[in-house]
Formats: sequence, C-alpha cells, structure tokens
Amino acid sequence: MKEDPVFSLIRKEERRQILGAEMIASENFVSPEVLQAMGSILTNKYAEGLPGKRYYGGCEFVDEIEELAIKRAKKLFDLEWVNVQPHSGAQANAAIMMALLKPGDPFVGFDLSHGGHLTHGSAVNFSGKLYQPHFYGVDKETGQIDYKNLRNTILSVRPKLIICGASSYSRDWDYKTFREYADEVGSLLMADIAHPAGLIAHSLLNNPFKYCHILSTTTHKTLRGPRGGMIMMRKNIPNPMGWKTAKGRHKTMGEILDSAVFPGTQGGPHEHTIAAKAIALQEVQTSEFKKYAQQICRNASTLAQALMDRNYQVLSKGTDNHMVLVDLRNKSISGKEAEDILSKVSITVNKNMVPFDDRSPFVTSGIRLGTPALSTRGLKEKDMEKIVDWIDQALSASQDEVHLKKIRKEVQTHMSSFPLFSWA
Ligand SMILES: *Cc1c(COP(=O)(O)O)cnc(C)c1O
Repeated sequence: MKEDPVFSLIRKEERRQILGAEMIASENFVSPEVLQAMGSILTNKYAEGLPGKRYYGGCEFVDEIEELAIKRAKKLFDLEWVNVQPHSGAQANAAIMMALLKPGDPFVGFDLSHGGHLTHGSAVNFSGKLYQPHFYGVDKETGQIDYKNLRNTILSVRPKLIICGASSYSRDWDYKTFREYADEVGSLLMADIAHPAGLIAHSLLNNPFKYCHILSTTTHKTLRGPRGGMIMMRKNIPNPMGWKTAKGRHKTMGEILDSAVFPGTQGGPHEHTIAAKAIALQEVQTSEFKKYAQQICRNASTLAQALMDRNYQVLSKGTDNHMVLVDLRNKSISGKEAEDILSKVSITVNKNMVPFDDRSPFVTSGIRLGTPALSTRGLKEKDMEKIVDWIDQALSASQDEVHLKKIRKEVQTHMSSFPLFSWA
C-alpha cells in the first residue's frame, strides 16, 4: 500500500526540528514517554464528565489516568482544586471567563501590544468581543509593568476580574501588589502562567499561587508536556456570584469552573493528552527537571547579555525568566525581516510587537527569543554566545546568500551534536 504523504511531511518536520536552533519561547521538546502517551489508543475514548461522574461507559481506566494527572498537578503546585481537561491555554481562559463574567462585564488585562495574550481582551478574540476589556501596560522608560497606571485603571474600571501574566514579558510579576489592588475593588485575581509555569514549579520566579485566586496554564511551554491547558486553585474559594446547586447549596468556585470547562466550552476530554499531562507532571517533579529549569534561566540571561554586548536593545535591559525580547529599531530591520533571515540560517524565532510599536503586527519592530527548547537539548551558556554571534552575523549580512549558507551549515552542524529524538 502506498504511504500517505503526511508521513513523509512528518519526517521532514522532524528533520527540521533536529537540525535547527529552536528559539521560539513557547516551544519545547517532549520526552519519548509523553509522545508515546499522546499517540496511544486513548484517543479512541469518549469520557465527557469528570472521573467517577462520566456520561459514557467503559471509563474505569481513563478515570484512573485522569485522577493521576489531577493528583500530580495538585502535588506539584500545592493545589486544592485543578481541572486538567482544557484542550489548550486559550480554552482554559475561555472557561475561566465564562465562569466569572457575564457578557459585557468589565475586566482588566495586560495589553497585547505590550506583551499580553490574545485571550486577555484582544478585539479579535472572544475575550474582547464578549466582555469589556481594559488594559494596563509597561512604562516607556523601564519596559516594566507600570503599577501606578495599573492601579488607576483598576480603580476607575472596578472590574470583576484582573488578569496578570503574559506571552512576551521577560520580567517577574509582583503578584502581591496585584492582589492588594484587586482587594481594593473586590475583584478576583487570575494569573495566566502559560509561559513560566515550569520555572514557577521550581521557585525560580515569584509564587503566584499565594496571591491569585485562579490560575491557568498551558502544559506545553516550560512545563514540557503535551499541547494542552489546566485551571488551578490553591484554595477552592466560595463563589462570589452566589450560584447554587439544585438543592440550594452554594456551589464552590471549583464546581463552577468544572462546568465552565464541560459542558460550558468543551465536549469530550482528550484522555490521550491527559495521560501525557500526567507523565509530564511527574517529570517536572524530578531533580533533573529542576536543573533543567535553572539552566533555562542561566541560558536566557547569558543570551540577553551577549545581545546587549553587540548593541542589541533588549527590552527592560535583561530577563528574569526564559525569554529575551529585542527591539530592532536601532538596527534598521523589521521583526518580520529578522525572522525570515534567521530562518534561512536554521534559527527559528518569532517576530514580536515591542511596546509603543509603530509597525503592524504582521511586520513588527522586534523579535522574541526563548531558551526552553535549546536547554532541553543540552545547550549551555557558551552555546548561547555562539548563537548570538550567528544571529548578529546573519542580520548584518542579510543580503549575502553565500554567507547565510555558511552560517546555516555551522548552526546545523552544531545542533547535530545535541541529540534529539534519540529513540528514533
Ligand atoms: C500560549 C499562551 C496561551 C494560549 O495557549 P494555547 O495553548 O496556544 O491556546 C494563553 N495565555 C498565555 C499568556 C500564553 O502565553
């Protein structure tokens, strides 16, 4: 039988991943075990509902699998309540907003163009279409969250929900201050830790669980698990909306969030992905992962310093986490051009808006770089310096196809010495 062409495309993509320097801050490489669970027969199973309370028969084994994922997530982040079913980070956020807000309700989020996520109120997203978003941003001078502006926004909007967390912000968050501001107006505080969850798990960043009522995360960024999401609470708080069960008992926030995931915004859970989440959540709790997480941060600060040494403008002049944001406006090259040139030399990054950008989101003035994927492959500080050298050479010789080819060869040779998919 003729092989479906999809398989040869998968092999091509595998080759691209092996040979390239993957610097997209939201990407990572999962373990063979995570991959195995994701590609398993669990994908055949329908299991609408929660473990022990399903709408389908034959769930005895997926119940145990989902319970393991729940148990491991609770242990990792010291949680009273978690839902491991969201298909993605965006789905987790959709469920949280559906649980907490009515259409038209005001909330406060981090401006997309300053580093926030689409699901934090962007006009093209459900969050900006169904609800009424208001934004805070960064200070023009420091590139860090403008807390004074944040408080003013909160006091004037008096939102029901405040969201902290970002997709492209390289500094840590002052969750304590966020909580103080939230308490001033009686708002719930949510942290979206989609990006730094794996670093937070090992206390390399401030602890949001102490101060935020509800948290969402993806499982595929620094957590290095399958593509998916989770919703978490350290304390299963009573619901401020006063919603009751049929028998008149006040529902807990956990019950409200559970039903916002299913049947509110999703159908059947992806038990193959939930199995892979369970495996990844166990991997995160090892001392090897802790060393890995520390290396991510060391690599990111080395990357930031090496870029600044070559006169690249790093936003906020450094990083506390796994990502580095570069404003290219002093280099007379756009984010899109930089992304294209770097992809010619097998370095994968993404163009990114910088705060107060005058270019469109399709062009942009910046790029975002991250170290989670490279650190999984075993790259260390000295490799970051090499990579910055290649980046600088490529961006400076962008018209010189011969030079770009030479750099590409060097990058691919270097990356080949860091095995990936060693089981393949
Ligand atoms: C990546 C990200 C998400 C969305 O995750 P998806 O799985 O792509 O839907 C949500 N919030 C933040 C802050 C993110 O960085």
